[in-house]
Amino acid sequence: MISLAEARDVVFGGCPRGPEAVVPVAEAHGAVLAAAVVAGEAVPPFANTAMDGFAVRAADTVGAGPDHPVDLEIVGTVQAGMSGLDAPVGEGRAARIMTGAPMPPGADAVVMVERTEVTGDRVAVLAEVAAGLHVRPVGDDVRPGDEVVAAGTVLGAAHLALLATVGVQEVPVVRRPVVGVLSTGDELVDGGGPLGPGQIRDSNRLALRTLLAAAGFEVVDLGLLPDDEAVITYGIRAGIERCDALVTSGGVSMGDFDFVKVVLDRLGAMRWMQVAIKPAKPLAFGTVERADGVVVPIFGLPGNPVSSMVSFELFCRPALRQMAGRTGIDRFRPQIVAIADEAMARKADGKTHFVRVRTRWDTSDGRVHVASAGAQGSHQLTAMANAGGLAELPDGAGVEVGDQVAVHLLDAALGL
Ligand code: AMP
Ligand code: MG
Repeated sequence: MISLAEARDVVFGGCPRGPEAVVPVAEAHGAVLAAAVVAGEAVPPFANTAMDGFAVRAADTVGAGPDHPVDLEIVGTVQAGMSGLDAPVGEGRAARIMTGAPMPPGADAVVMVERTEVTGDRVAVLAEVAAGLHVRPVGDDVRPGDEVVAAGTVLGAAHLALLATVGVQEVPVVRRPVVGVLSTGDELVDGGGPLGPGQIRDSNRLALRTLLAAAGFEVVDLGLLPDDEAVITYGIRAGIERCDALVTSGGVSMGDFDFVKVVLDRLGAMRWMQVAIKPAKPLAFGTVERADGVVVPIFGLPGNPVSSMVSFELFCRPALRQMAGRTGIDRFRPQIVAIADEAMARKADGKTHFVRVRTRWDTSDGRVHVASAGAQGSHQLTAMANAGGLAELPDGAGVEVGDQVAVHLLDAALGL
């Protein structure tokens, strides 16, 4: 057996950062920015008001208060989208102004509407305002020449909004790999018909496709293949032509019909690993060089449904994200230290155990608490479905009630 860290070194070492591509900003969510974006314009592009109210000359409001109204003449109205007023706001004058509208020349502050009383074309100002109050100056957020998003940033909604704000339409990103998924096993069937003797339904392909899509990768469904060397060879060859990476499940254990292993050994440089983890001990990883010289990584995941998902979490997801340009901790799910609500006993066996746990945020201590999500067999998907996280139990006797435990948060964590 090799450690999780060693196995990850092998896998990550075979998954280099992919090529760059220029894409529309609207399609860049979750991608890694390949080069810094510098603003060509200011945000806001003009000084404008943060409040509905009256644009005034601050000097005119000196001494104003609830009992000392200052009386000004209303000379016009500026609303958002207008270019301004015909004439500057002179002494003793004010302009009605709406949030986002440009500050009219002459005015240097805004009195919020709640601090005013209007009578006809006159306004009584009931508060003294300092110059600049409620005014958003030009370039307050971004100045031309500012680096708005750094190279290497994983683009989220706010980054895309910022790019839109400065008028950027397209960005260079690291291309995310197109990933092919296939299942292998003579016992597997697709669809909802009745099961024949010895048959089970293929669940891994849907789980893996879903995990891949949720992680932002384009997925190619390469289907369900029988335990037949020629068919598997053909399927994997075809997959390599269409995809930047392949994820297979089943056929990598020690059984007599585990042909994925045989086929991959012939096609490329494969490593067969027994990783010191439970579940998901067997793992095949390697690379196949395509006719055009592109090197395609292949992940041969174990067939047991929980094992294939855990293996995906620990190896595939971070490795594929590395191909997509993520580095360091950005490749991984969030990991937290939680409190065990119940004892999780285990035996020392040289492996790290990943226990499917429910997660619950406790408002009384502000901590996340965990408890077993159900029976922990590698074929038992129910606990996986109920799990908000994978608790990492190092080799040893497990944890007691109240102990701290490292947890890798999954999508369902905390009901978010
Ligand atoms: P294998 O890795 O091919 O030896 O399969 C290990 C176990 O996982 C066996 O019980 C298989 O029937 C089961 N299995 C393999 N592939 C799938 C799949 N796609 N969906 C559900 N179960 C599977
Ligand atoms: Mg099999």
